[in-house]
Amino acid sequence: MDVDSLIKHWAEASWYNLGFPGATDIDYSPLGPTLGVLLNNVGDPGVRGVALNHTKDIELRVVRWLADLFRAPINDRWGYVTSCGTESNLYALHAARSQHPNTIVYHSSAAHPSIPKAVQLLGLDHIVIATGPEVRSGEMDYGDLDREIQRHRDRPATVVATAGTTMTEAFDDVREITRILDSLPVRRRYVHVDAALSGVPLGLEDPAARPGLDFEDGADSIAVSGHKIFGVPFPCGVVITRAHHRARVAQASYTGSPDTTIGGSRSGHAPLALWWAIEQLGAEGLRRRAQQSRALAAYMLGRLEAMGWDAYRQHPLGFTVVLATPPPAVTGRWVLADGGGGYSHVVCMPGVTRERIDGFLGDLAAAAAPHIPSPRGEPQPAPA
Ligand SMILES: *Cc1c(COP(=O)(O)O)cnc(C)c1O
Repeated sequence: MDVDSLIKHWAEASWYNLGFPGATDIDYSPLGPTLGVLLNNVGDPGVRGVALNHTKDIELRVVRWLADLFRAPINDRWGYVTSCGTESNLYALHAARSQHPNTIVYHSSAAHPSIPKAVQLLGLDHIVIATGPEVRSGEMDYGDLDREIQRHRDRPATVVATAGTTMTEAFDDVREITRILDSLPVRRRYVHVDAALSGVPLGLEDPAARPGLDFEDGADSIAVSGHKIFGVPFPCGVVITRAHHRARVAQASYTGSPDTTIGGSRSGHAPLALWWAIEQLGAEGLRRRAQQSRALAAYMLGRLEAMGWDAYRQHPLGFTVVLATPPPAVTGRWVLADGGGGYSHVVCMPGVTRERIDGFLGDLAAAAAPHIPSPRGEPQPAPA
């Protein structure tokens, strides 16, 4: 196997990938030598177990850092590093079902496919809530949520909010969801926030200046991905819950650690990489780079508007620019995510530079010239 040429191939491909939201600005190569060690955080992160080749102390630091960021109650918090955002969501809905076996799950039509997948795996009932009222927003329609919960008030409600929907990066407002549950009132409730994409950048903002997101806003659990904002070079995630939702296990297993997690054997390298990013950048560094991403998204939108190309940003705190899907000459080269309905998106994750955006816009202008109306509204002649 020619590792060097594989690495070269991946580096070239990554330049043109503007659609998948993985940050590429953090250098994890100093952790390279740890690949020579098997690190297995089997079972509960809080119980060391019999073997010593693990990183549970570091995993607990990662969990504590995120629990603090998301204002989880000091005396009622738990969490672990998962294999991906999907596992984080599965764990959360598993916790919701343990709490309220008869619950109905409400999630919007813009929820990530991992939510209906978890619903199906757990055999739960669910109701899909519309987005809107503006069709292209992707944010949950709170009026529809209110009506549907009211209609099924005899059953406990599990509401899944998304912080950063996949196509438009809409934020479902957890404070608004809490207000609806309070007003009905529904006491047997569970609120999970799928914040795989945007939880960390949003959580770093002043709570008064961002949509409701965290435990103080009413969440019972929050999921984040590790390979998106942190750019960890392999899939991983984190789930943070209230501790009293933790799966109860009668006995520690042969591993010496209670089997409270979905995965049994779990990566010890994932907590290492997550802590590396958190320690290298700190909250200040992470906040600064989120602001750079938003500034780049604003720059890109401004240039698309100047070209007359249909585009928008759903929220000023997002990194995502939604645009009318470019012609095949452009999408054959640049990897965007096509959401259907004639729209695609670019996510200005850390590591996406102005140079890359300019390269994309240059290709778009060249391929699209015949389609773009001139300032007077007349089609411009195609270049000879
Ligand atoms: C990426 C993402 C997921 C799934 O995470 P994986 O790590 O790919 O399993 C779930 N929800 C949202 C909103 C996401 O952006």
